[in-house]
Amino acid sequence: MAEDRLSKIVSLCRRRSFVFGGSEIYGGLSSIWDYGPLGARLKKRIKDIWWDTYVEKKEDILGLDSSIIMHEDVFKASGHLEGFTDSLVDCPKCKKRFRIDKLEKISENLYRCTECSSEIDSSKHKPRKFNLMLKTNVSATEDEPNFGYLRPETAQGIFTNFINVLNSTHKKLPFGIAQIGKAFRNEVTTGSFIFRMKEFEQMEIEYFVKPEDAARAYEYWVNERFDFYTSKLGIRKENLRLREHEKDELAHYAKSCTDIEYNFPFGWSELEGIANRGNFDLTEHARVSKKDHNYFNEATREKFIPYVIEPSAGVDRTFFAVISDAYHEEEVNGKTRVVLKLKPNLAANCAAVFPLLKNKPELVELAKKIFYDIKVKFPATYDDTGAIGKLYRRQDEIGTPLCITVDVESLTDNKVTIRDRDTMKQERISVEKILEYIEAKVK
Ligand code: ATP
Repeated sequence: MAEDRLSKIVSLCRRRSFVFGGSEIYGGLSSIWDYGPLGARLKKRIKDIWWDTYVEKKEDILGLDSSIIMHEDVFKASGHLEGFTDSLVDCPKCKKRFRIDKLEKISENLYRCTECSSEIDSSKHKPRKFNLMLKTNVSATEDEPNFGYLRPETAQGIFTNFINVLNSTHKKLPFGIAQIGKAFRNEVTTGSFIFRMKEFEQMEIEYFVKPEDAARAYEYWVNERFDFYTSKLGIRKENLRLREHEKDELAHYAKSCTDIEYNFPFGWSELEGIANRGNFDLTEHARVSKKDHNYFNEATREKFIPYVIEPSAGVDRTFFAVISDAYHEEEVNGKTRVVLKLKPNLAANCAAVFPLLKNKPELVELAKKIFYDIKVKFPATYDDTGAIGKLYRRQDEIGTPLCITVDVESLTDNKVTIRDRDTMKQERISVEKILEYIEAKVK
């Protein structure tokens, strides 16, 4: 059943140009995906809402756009060179390779292979460490290589710019630095669509605080980020939950961590992690770079390295959660209607305009005029490539909240039929009222 729902969502994403396989015409690459025209729009909307909420609307958070390729020493300091590894084990029967922490554990050293269900004895087939970072040569010559790394998290670009931002903006604690950007991990576990990718995007905030304020800030960010998914993206509360990490599963840098999990079609999994990273990162960058990373508190004349709270969200997992949450199937007149009940401000188009008859030039002309008038203010689309029922179905599947049909009567009464995606109710409204109507729907 869950598999069925997952494959339906993947198929809709392909069919309607949300997501395609990466390098597909050459056979594809595992865990690499491309976003098509509608996917690129939805993804951009998600990022815009996040950026607007935290950077544009907040006084205490500054934006940053740091580079993807970073110096090897960054990752010596952050611990990624040493510790950013997965323990991998090979199944002796089907020869597939797995992350041992993702296998079903039967007893002390015994695991179940996800692929062929045979038992893997980890005392005989010892797990091996595998670093997840992607390395690249940034030297001009191949024979004298100089390696840089594609960042595995956007966070390190924020930490390495901490002194720059502090010295150039003179911000006082508490303040945050936010960044949206690509991150790269050579993930071995594949499958689950865009949930686990080798190239993905993150939306991260590093919120710097005095050490004594860290616990309170951590709690604030856990609640704030949970609310963001329901209030800003319209994800249903019952499909979200918080999961606090046990002490033994905390990352090497974290003092505490809570995951926001979403009920994906394959089960509950991490959507975002909120961590109290203490002063680990800045302390380590100070040590390796030999640059002072202290904050000077003018009031108390004290110097100290701030603590940091990190809400770290994945753009792609958010996209996946938004689509999964919006995906509905309904029985209408004995047929299945697939509808994406996206929050109206997330839909690729706020409205779609159709002429009822495409062979009547006056109708086409009026419909196009209405479409161009809408397009100045809202993203919209025009379509006359099918019968009306087919056009509605197409728009339902991509989540367009309103469909506007221009018919013969429109030519005399200057009114159109406007149809609501969710209720399928139709109303006749005058052409002058269209923009107002859309505005009320998407605001
Ligand atoms: P997981 O345990 O699922 O591998 P993680 O705990 O390693 O995730 P973090 O390092 O906390 O993930 O990264 C923060 C966020 O970045 C995650 O919550 C997720 O939304 C996103 N993310 C991490 N790895 C990937 C990936 N391979 N593909 C897509 N998104 C990812």
